[in-house]
Amino acid sequence: MKEKTVFELSVAGRKGVTLSDCDVPSKPLEDLLGEENLRDSLPMPELSEMDTVRHFTALSRNNYSIDNGFYPLGSCTMKYNPKMNEAIAKMPGFAGLHPLQFEETIQGALELIEHLERILTEIAGMYACSVQPAAGAHGELLGLMMIHAYHKSRGDDQREWVLIPDSAHGTNPASAARCGFKVKSVPTNSEGLTDVQALKRMLNDTVAAFMLTNPNTTGLFEKDICTICDVVHQSGGLVYCDGANMNALLGIARPGDMGFDVMHFNLHKTFSTPHGGGGPGCGAVAVTKKLEPFLPTPRIERARDQYRLNYDRPQSIGRIHSFYGAFLVAVRAYAYIRNLGADGLRQVAEMAVLNANYIRSKMKDAYEIPHDRFCMHEVVLSASHQKKTCGVRALDISKRLMDYGYHPPTNYFPLIIPEALMIEPTETENKETLDAFCDAMLSIAKEADENPDILISAPHNTDIGRLNETVALKQLNVNWLTHHKEKKDA
Ligand SMILES: *Cc1c(COP(=O)(O)O)cnc(C)c1O
Repeated sequence: MKEKTVFELSVAGRKGVTLSDCDVPSKPLEDLLGEENLRDSLPMPELSEMDTVRHFTALSRNNYSIDNGFYPLGSCTMKYNPKMNEAIAKMPGFAGLHPLQFEETIQGALELIEHLERILTEIAGMYACSVQPAAGAHGELLGLMMIHAYHKSRGDDQREWVLIPDSAHGTNPASAARCGFKVKSVPTNSEGLTDVQALKRMLNDTVAAFMLTNPNTTGLFEKDICTICDVVHQSGGLVYCDGANMNALLGIARPGDMGFDVMHFNLHKTFSTPHGGGGPGCGAVAVTKKLEPFLPTPRIERARDQYRLNYDRPQSIGRIHSFYGAFLVAVRAYAYIRNLGADGLRQVAEMAVLNANYIRSKMKDAYEIPHDRFCMHEVVLSASHQKKTCGVRALDISKRLMDYGYHPPTNYFPLIIPEALMIEPTETENKETLDAFCDAMLSIAKEADENPDILISAPHNTDIGRLNETVALKQLNVNWLTHHKEKKDA
């Protein structure tokens, strides 16, 4: 790392602030905290205030974020989130609420959540919604728990399988397994869509549900979706929609109308909560009428102009989150939706799809596009041609993009497309940005032909070059104390 650690910058005796002497009588620390809670030494760096500010400002510049530049990470919807929503979520009336306050004192918050749930229900084309789950995967778990409860309530106990396409996001099979189901993979056909014949052959009275992402992860709309839902229903199963990325559908098409029984949204993707780094999110779940009794408690209900929390729901799967989920994420989503309105949401979808197709048409001559048709909010390229002809892989192209100042696209996902580069531009980028990004991609394709080494040795401008990504993931060490200790021991 180029940056020194605060310990390397430390000079014994240097101070950040000088406090005046204490002018009230003070007790010895032993008396206040107890002897057993005191330690002899705590390694602390000693720096001036200015050195400290410069240090942390320099570190922050090593980060790449949507506020720095284009971030086309497919399936993640790294769109620009209006700062106004942050300002609204920070208002003391929202941010200062305590989760243990009495219902009478949080009527506005309950009204906001209830209204948001009604709006999301409408967008989903379903019957009811809960914003309690904290993430997309958490929403999947909730949806599957309700599916399980539904079959059980009908005495349909033998339904132990969940079918999932081989193109699905990894959370789908993980959530199904976590919920106690067994998982079988449904193949994708040569068009990049669910193989409906194969699905039909796999359906029987042991199948609880089929989980599908639509548009699927190859960026394509499952055009046979109505048939798919019909055949699953005919066999007594339910259909789950992974709606983590609703950017392509908003205001245009509704999963409920397609025949889905339950879906989750990612408010932290589609509805403007910044994400990445594991901050609070919301995987709101919408359901059709037959699953409504199983929604988690508490439910917000309105009676005689008062909102109240109802815990008395005998068929409910119970609690899925403490209190009522990540409230300030709901506030951001509500602000975003109310500000855009119905027409604005539809425009989001139109622009997201237009932008992805613009990139697709510009990439055609330089990169292989395995399913080169009109795509939805994202487009999946393949670096197979580059791998064959110049020994350059998708990873090398991504690393080289960093030299051009861009965050790389999603690599090697979906798993069914070799050397995949999954690009999601989102609706928030303008034509100039898309053109500059496409120019970079085209010039990298040229470099791959003429000078592949420059790709294979990339990135060249970052503080850290290529990592052993497995070790970095498994032995992530971002703790200053262990870092300090390792330096001392070395
Ligand atoms: C992001 C994503 C998820 C998981 O959402 P988390 O909030 O990260 O749990 C599930 N499915 C798809 C298609 C996604 O893009």
